[in-house]
Amino acid sequence: MDGIRTTNPVSVGDKVDFKTDSESHVIVNIHDRKNYIIRKSSNLSKHSQIIAANIDQAFLIVTVNYPITTTAFIDRFLASAEAYGIKARIIFNKIDRYYRKADKERLHELQNIYESIGYKCFQISAKEGTHLDTIREQLAGKINLLAGHSGVGKSTLINAIQPGLNLKTGEISEAHAQGKHTTTFSEMFELDFGGYIIDTPGIRGFGTIDMEKEEIYHFFPEIFKTAADCQFNNCTHIHEPKCAVKKAVNEGDISITRYESYLGMMLEEEDNKYRL
Ligand code: GDP
Ligand code: ZN
Repeated sequence: MDGIRTTNPVSVGDKVDFKTDSESHVIVNIHDRKNYIIRKSSNLSKHSQIIAANIDQAFLIVTVNYPITTTAFIDRFLASAEAYGIKARIIFNKIDRYYRKADKERLHELQNIYESIGYKCFQISAKEGTHLDTIREQLAGKINLLAGHSGVGKSTLINAIQPGLNLKTGEISEAHAQGKHTTTFSEMFELDFGGYIIDTPGIRGFGTIDMEKEEIYHFFPEIFKTAADCQFNNCTHIHEPKCAVKKAVNEGDISITRYESYLGMMLEEEDNKYRL
């Protein structure tokens, strides 16, 4: 990740030294970052923007409906977190709305897929306050990144666990839903019970900015583990014979949607790799 040109030399989460004069604090040094996540500043720009630094863990807020979060989106996020060396967890929100059988089953199915890989999952209702104590326990004392589609309830969750912030919540606007003119800044909030939350409004994904094609499978833990048994050590798990990954997919040991996400990332055009 060296040599990346970034437009913002200091970011949310940076640890700095500063000196204080009569009027202000002045940054004199930025400490080395334990990790950071970046996104391209704009479609035309070659520059990247650091969204946040020194993150202990990332929580992806997922709604199986209202709005739908796709597995492609979830898997891209998880792979990015793996690439950045950040522990990722999944919070399924709006469980109060999943009384329809199809939604309930989907929730179950997704949780099974991700827990079997080793990602911790939580089910909450930010609106009704269900299971928020567990979330508080998870967040306490750490620098936590919160991500997820617009409308999944990030602001509602933050308001519920940290009263007084009064973040604006609401339904998804048309412009937002279409991904137009989204503002891209992140903000860090201190938690009364210790720790911080970094909210990333307008960020819908991180792209695969630092991943080489050949290493993408490293960021799908269950595929990486299985790949040790492929016949060819440069197996791409797409078309090679005696591929242990394809076999595991066929036998149901690796989820088909995870494999599809992997293929999607492998086969996408270079130009699209910053897709949000
Ligand atoms: P954000 O864009 O991720 O910050 O989402 P918001 O917090 O603005 O929430 C979007 C909408 O979903 C709002 O109308 C919220 O009231 C609603 N919402 C958030 N959490 C829940 C929940 O747990 N259950 C239900 N039924 N609605 C929720
Ligand atoms: Zn293979």
